[in-house]
Amino acid sequence: MNARFVIGAAVVAVSAAVCPASTRASAQNRTSAASLAAAPPPPPPGKFLVCIDPGHPSETSAGARAHGLSENRLNWQVAQRLAKRLDAMGIAYKLTKTSVNQYVTNRQRAETANKAGAALLIRLHCDVGNGRGYAWYYPDRAGRKGGVTGPPRNVQRASRQAAHILNAAMKPILQGHLQSNAIKTDAATFVGGKQGGVLTGSIFSRVPTALIEMCFINQKSDARFIASPTGQEKMAEALAAGIKAYQGARTMTAR
Ligand SMILES: [Zn+2]
Repeated sequence: MNARFVIGAAVVAVSAAVCPASTRASAQNRTSAASLAAAPPPPPPGKFLVCIDPGHPSETSAGARAHGLSENRLNWQVAQRLAKRLDAMGIAYKLTKTSVNQYVTNRQRAETANKAGAALLIRLHCDVGNGRGYAWYYPDRAGRKGGVTGPPRNVQRASRQAAHILNAAMKPILQGHLQSNAIKTDAATFVGGKQGGVLTGSIFSRVPTALIEMCFINQKSDARFIASPTGQEKMAEALAAGIKAYQGARTMTAR
C-alpha cells in the first residue's frame, strides 16, 4: 500500500502506509495540555527505564493485516519477548499496554513514557507496502495537536541520536535475516506527512522517542521471519542490544 504525498517539490511514494498511517479521525482524550507543558522530573540517579510501546489498537487503526498475520499481535509478541530479555539484563521497562487488544491512544502512549520518566520510548510496528526489512523513524520537528506543541527541540535531537544508536546496534544481529533500511523522520510516515511531519506519539512525548517498522508483513520472507518464534527472538535480541547501546551512550554523556 503506497501513500503518496508531497515533500517540497517532489512527490514521494511512501510505504509506511498502514501503520503509523490511518485515515480515521483521531479521538482526543481529555488530559490537560498543562500537564504536558513541562518535562517530567528526571528519574532517580542511575535509574534507566525504557518504555516499550507495542503499536495498535489506537485511534489510527487496529493495525495492518497480511498473510493471515495481525500486526497488532506481532507487535505484542515481540514486546513480550523484549521485556523478558530486559528483565534478564536488569534493565527496567514499562509497557504502554497490559493486554494485546487493549485500546490506547497514541497520546496516552507518550504520556505513559513521560510519567515513567523513561530514558527512551520505543514504538514497535510492522509495515505493509512495497519495501522490505526494518526502518527507524524519529521526530525532527515539532507539531501541534490538542492544544499541545511538541516534541521540544532537545527531545528531537535526543530522538535522532537514539534512532542512530539503535539502528547501528541492531544491524549486525539482523544481518542475513532482515534488510536494514535508512533511518527516516516522522515526516516519511503517512500520518506524520498529513499532520505537519510529526506523529501524534512524538508530539506528546517529552522523552526521546523512535518508532521501528520491524518488517513488511505483506512481503513473504519478512512475514515468515516475524511470524516465527526464532525470528521474533532475533528481533527482540536486536532491540535489546540497541537499548543496551543507548544506555551505554547515555552513561558516557552523563560523565
Ligand atoms: Zn503500525
